[in-house]
Amino acid sequence: MFIHGDSFPEPLVVPTMKDVKLDPSEESTYECFDCGTVVVSATAPGSCPNCGADMRNRSTPLE
Ligand SMILES: [Zn+2]
Repeated sequence: MFIHGDSFPEPLVVPTMKDVKLDPSEESTYECFDCGTVVVSATAPGSCPNCGADMRNRSTPLE
């Protein structure tokens, strides 16, 4: 027995990737220890282009 007449609303499929800005998987953000210069690079800059100090990966989750 099928009862027609009621149109069930289709469940809305909401795309989960609307405006999600995750960290790019290829690039990381590095911040200078000394002067605070931020470099976004796919490879570790190693030293600050501004002052030559060590840089750290800022995208690494730090608790
Ligand atoms: Zn620096």
